[in-house]
Amino acid sequence: MNRGAQSIRPYRSYVYAYPHKTSYRPLPERPALSELWAGERKDALSLYLHIPFCEVRCGFCNLFTRIGAPGELTTRYLDALERQAVAVREALGDTEPVRFAAAAFGGGTPTFLTAGELERLCDIAERRMGADLREVPLSVETSPATATADRLAVLAGRGTTRVSIGVQSFVDAEARAAVRPQRRADVEAALGRIRDTGVPVLNIDLIYGIDGQTETTWRRSLDAALAWHPEELYLYPLYVRPLTGLGRQAGADADTAWDEQRLRLYRQGRDHLLAHGYQQVSMRMFRRGGAGGTAPRGPDDHACQTDGMIGLGCGARSYTSGLHYSFDYAVDMRRIRAIIDDYTEAADFTRAEVGRRIDGGEARRRHLLQSLLQAQGMEVAGYRERFGSAPAEDFPGELAAFAGRGWLEETGGLLRLTPEGLAHSDALGPELFSPAVRHAMAAYEPK
Ligand code: SF4
Repeated sequence: MNRGAQSIRPYRSYVYAYPHKTSYRPLPERPALSELWAGERKDALSLYLHIPFCEVRCGFCNLFTRIGAPGELTTRYLDALERQAVAVREALGDTEPVRFAAAAFGGGTPTFLTAGELERLCDIAERRMGADLREVPLSVETSPATATADRLAVLAGRGTTRVSIGVQSFVDAEARAAVRPQRRADVEAALGRIRDTGVPVLNIDLIYGIDGQTETTWRRSLDAALAWHPEELYLYPLYVRPLTGLGRQAGADADTAWDEQRLRLYRQGRDHLLAHGYQQVSMRMFRRGGAGGTAPRGPDDHACQTDGMIGLGCGARSYTSGLHYSFDYAVDMRRIRAIIDDYTEAADFTRAEVGRRIDGGEARRRHLLQSLLQAQGMEVAGYRERFGSAPAEDFPGELAAFAGRGWLEETGGLLRLTPEGLAHSDALGPELFSPAVRHAMAAYEPK
């Protein structure tokens, strides 16, 4: 069926990992990590440490994080993280070389931790897991209020190569509208402190589609970010309908108006960054021309899709070739608190508790999805080499539909999204989900 692009809503969901965590289920057999990792390549693993704390809850955020951490919770959390690291490192064994090729601290807000706690976090990554943080790319997320000089000094001293800061908007009223009260002066000061550390890659996150945001104010935020010459910029569409303005209107007209606002601002942002010498890496990600390419990147990073991933912390995922696993997942604040408390009390980290098996079909979908959403596209020969078939044989209906909408083209052995295809990444991605994953996601009860 050749549906016109006009009728398709552009913002369905952000596919930064497939399958989504809402398709994970408790694993009744609770497989031992030592068995799961026994046959896996372990010489280029990614390490991810998850810190599920933030100083405020942004209105648009549905990540696994809680506000504030009373009493000794951060200490208890780091204690548990250390116990988990010991158990996981033991499960990886020593019969084959175990090496980490990249590391990242994410959240939440890792810099919610104090400088001393960040030292401990680095120690866990190095001494317990064996990651050589000074030798591999290390990416850390931060926020304006928590990017303090002492914390940044620890991170820079321990080998951080990329700092990613969620600014969202340089316009104070927009920050308030997105339920993240902050003053521009504080944001600029935080950016100055980050640049003072000399960490080579600065990433700034901005959001479009905020209530009251116009081409003029969006341009103001883009220019304020560009003034720092960030090596990377992520432009995110807002996903949670604002509570005022457009959000007060109900029905299809309001949805259409919001979609149009976001598409308009996306195109403006993209064109503005391209005109300033940035390259588009994916719908959201832009990299400054000439800005090195060794640091691990944000959620759109493609490099680790075939590598193993070790996630530590109660919201982190781990990937072997046959299983993606994590702990329980929730977005409701009370449930998140309970899951974090359970995590801090856990004594046994030797088994996978919640996850989803990845069979050959899902591995193909994952490869296609994550490659196609990159601006550089996917090499057909690489896909064939890995899976023994052509993408057009495996996904004839989906690929024909995308081409019919003008979203996809094949040139020089590359399957690549057109500019309109990239603009509609969040509509296109979900169409590649398998029926089983779709079904599991639909059956997931938010908690
Ligand atoms: S700082 Fe980041 S993780 Fe924390 S609530 Fe805001 S968007 Fe979510």
